[in-house]
Amino acid sequence: MQFWREMVKTIIIFFLISVFYYSTNAQEQNDFFKTIVIDAGHGGKDPGAVGKIVMEKDVVLGIALKLGQYINENLPGINVIYTRKKDVFVPLDERAQIANSSKADLFISIHANSISNPNISGTETFVLGLHRSQDNLEVAKKENSVIVLEDDYTTKYEGFDPNVSESYIIFELMQNVYLDQSIKLASLVEDQFNTRAGRRSRGVKQAGFLVLRETAMPSVLVEAGFLTNNKEEAYIATDEGQAIIASAIYRAIKEYKKSFELKSNIVISNNEPSPISFRIQIASSKRKLKDDSKLFFGFQDVWMYNEADYFKYTIEYSKSFNDLKPVLLKIKEKIPDAFIVAFENDKRIPIDKALKLINP
Ligand SMILES: [Zn+2]
Repeated sequence: MQFWREMVKTIIIFFLISVFYYSTNAQEQNDFFKTIVIDAGHGGKDPGAVGKIVMEKDVVLGIALKLGQYINENLPGINVIYTRKKDVFVPLDERAQIANSSKADLFISIHANSISNPNISGTETFVLGLHRSQDNLEVAKKENSVIVLEDDYTTKYEGFDPNVSESYIIFELMQNVYLDQSIKLASLVEDQFNTRAGRRSRGVKQAGFLVLRETAMPSVLVEAGFLTNNKEEAYIATDEGQAIIASAIYRAIKEYKKSFELKSNIVISNNEPSPISFRIQIASSKRKLKDDSKLFFGFQDVWMYNEADYFKYTIEYSKSFNDLKPVLLKIKEKIPDAFIVAFENDKRIPIDKALKLINP
């Protein structure tokens, strides 16, 4: 009897501690993920792609407003900001400024595609980077060319000529702190299109979109389908088609948010010496960054490791996950997407595995 009483007491205490940790962390997470900017491409004097029955500016606005509505109804803690809610012209840099000044945690730009071959159909979601194919470059050129409708665009975009391929070389040298997270969201969006929305996914792609270059948060550009394909245009033109597209993007955001929370939700204390260490990842790049990269200013212990095809950059170092958590909070003021990574003898391992190894 004595034994069971003790046992039950232990279980209750354990439960209360878990609830306590969970609720304090839940509060913390909400501070990390609270604002989403939804960017309906084009508008006003800029129609975007023009199909036989609809214009890009109208269908993407429909999708954007529905997406915002789903988020407002189902994710009440999230603040939705639109770059436009009606048929008006908004310059590209202004769209990014809206996201930056509201300190958004996510930027989603919604577009529809066009191409000379009317048989081509399907969705694609882009993250910022250098195009790997001519097709991807063409999409970026088309979307970027809207800047010529803006006043003094050569000054604003520092001489960038959206129609000249050579201009795009700068995207090769640019590294993006938010690439990992952007790719993750883009994959979730395409996954949803493919599996749940019954669309043909053309996959996650990379290209040099000006609007994504200017944003300081994980950002994706969704091409929701081709207006040059009759069947796809007819689908996107309907309220129902737009609703299915919007709900697919909504589910991807929900998934993204969930995984983001799990990542910052592990609590454990242990300072035992071990081959396990923790660092804070601040950047990920296809290209090796220069040692004097602006990104590293003011940080100490910058350490790089390779994973897949990427050079990944970390700062700080600790044997204790808990000791690094307050440091991460500070770093997040400068780099909101920084996160903790674990290593076993300098080889990256999942955080939960690391925590189990130091506290079996
Ligand atoms: Zn567009």
